[in-house]
Formats: sequence, C-alpha cells, structure tokens
Amino acid sequence: MRAARVHVARAFVFASMLGVSMVGGCSMPSAIAPSYRGSVGVPHAGFLTDGVELPKEGKGFRWKSAADHHYGLPRMIGLLEGAAASVAELRPGMPPVYVGEISAKGGGALLPKHRSHRTGRDVDVMFFTTTLDGAKVPGTGFTVFGPDGLGVEAGGRFLRFDVDREWLLIKSLVASDKAHVQWIFIARWLEALLVEHAIALGEPSPIIARAEQVMQQPGDSLPHDDHIHVRIACEPDELATGCDGGGPRWAWIPQPTKIEADAPTLLEALLGPSVTPDGKGVASPVAASP
Ligand SMILES: [Zn+2]
Repeated sequence: MRAARVHVARAFVFASMLGVSMVGGCSMPSAIAPSYRGSVGVPHAGFLTDGVELPKEGKGFRWKSAADHHYGLPRMIGLLEGAAASVAELRPGMPPVYVGEISAKGGGALLPKHRSHRTGRDVDVMFFTTTLDGAKVPGTGFTVFGPDGLGVEAGGRFLRFDVDREWLLIKSLVASDKAHVQWIFIARWLEALLVEHAIALGEPSPIIARAEQVMQQPGDSLPHDDHIHVRIACEPDELATGCDGGGPRWAWIPQPTKIEADAPTLLEALLGPSVTPDGKGVASPVAASP
C-alpha cells in the first residue's frame, strides 16, 4: 500500500511540476517543461496529453462499453483501427472486436481496476469467440478460456476461443508499423494455442517469433485468460518528450540514439527511481502489467 501511495504522490508531483491537470482532461504542458507531452511517465504512474479518442465503432471494432475510457496516443488508436480492419477484411461478416479500457482523456489512474492504462499506451481487447460449432458470437464479455480453448459465458453457454481470428489480430498488431507492440499480456495456454495455430498455417517465422516475444502471462496479476492487454513501446523521439518505457526494446523496435536513451534519466533525477506498485523497486514491465 505504501508503495502505491508513493506512486500516486509521484504522479501528482510530476503533473503539477509540468503544469498539467490530472483531473478533468488534458491541458498543455507548462513553460517549466514545455517539451513533455503525449505519453508522459510509466504506464502505472504517468499521464497523457494530446490523446485521441477511439471512435465508438469503425471497420471491425466497437467499444465494449461506453463506461470505459478510450483515449490513447494517436498511434495507439491507429494501431487498433488498422488491426481491426485487417481482420474484418480477411473474415468478412463476423462480429467486430470489442475494445475495452485504453486511458482517460488526460490519462492518470483508472482505479481500482487498473494499475496501468495511465499514459495512452495500454489497451484491453476482448477475445474473438464462436459457438462450439463455429457460429459467430460477439465477444462482448470477459469469458475465461481454458487450455482446451473452451469457456462458459455468463448464462451458461459454452464458447470456443476463436484462434483463427485472434491470431489474425495478434499478427496484425505485431507486424504493424503504426506502433511497436511491447507486450501482449495473455494466459500461457492461450499463447500456446495461437503459436501452434500460426506454425500450422506456415506463417513467417519472424512474425511468429515477434508474437512469442511479446505474448506474456503476467506474473503478478490475473493470467489474462479472458482478454488481452496490449502495450505499445515508447518511440525513440518520445523518450525526449517524457515517455518512460521500461522493459525490453525488442530488436525489431527502433533503437534510440544516446541522447534519446538518456532522456528518461532527467525524469528520474526529478522524481527518483520508478517504484513499482508492489514496492519491489524499479519497475519491471511485467510487474506493471494490468
Ligand atoms: Zn489492461
């Protein structure tokens, strides 16, 4: 609890230093630090300026709930729209993908359910589902799927994890040049189904390798057996505007220059090292999961 409070306090100190309101939407960074904008801070202790709202519906996607928050970095929104459209083109006539929480308009905490989702780089996406005989079913809920790929929705009907469309979505996300995916949190057994499916299809091995790298079951939270949580990496130029990525920079993600790579150390100098919500020290990407 203490570490969580430290975190919240850090976020507010940080926001006030930059002259950004954490309540009631975003505003422009102040003259004190005019260069900090966009995704500022780490996903579990940061905020968002200049966010863009995902439309309520579009080609191949729809909001899961109007009660959720759907603001993200422009490239996060572009990534989602592109991936959803590609699945819709390849599997026409099927229900859209349902998009859950991204971030609030100005970012910040979406407590009590989410530790991250604060900087416009995280999104929850519902699974694609079918009936047992393959008929289309809108994947609107948090249905838990087991290693056999089966789940029971609220109301008692058995559903199947639609590995075909889910793989198309994962493939489009990791192959996109609109943004670079850093993590896709998903249960280990569902990752296994997806990778097995991709190999059986003969998908390009570099794409399968990317997917295997980013798909991860978080060690410190729910296993993500009822939705995926996608996090995009900070782009090199965003490191200089306050984006603090943590975690790996996979080989296929553009690498920062020395100056860009050093930029987050200024934030550390101002605020001290990042403290994870569990109080175990400098943030690891998995510790900062949901
Ligand atoms: Zn999430």
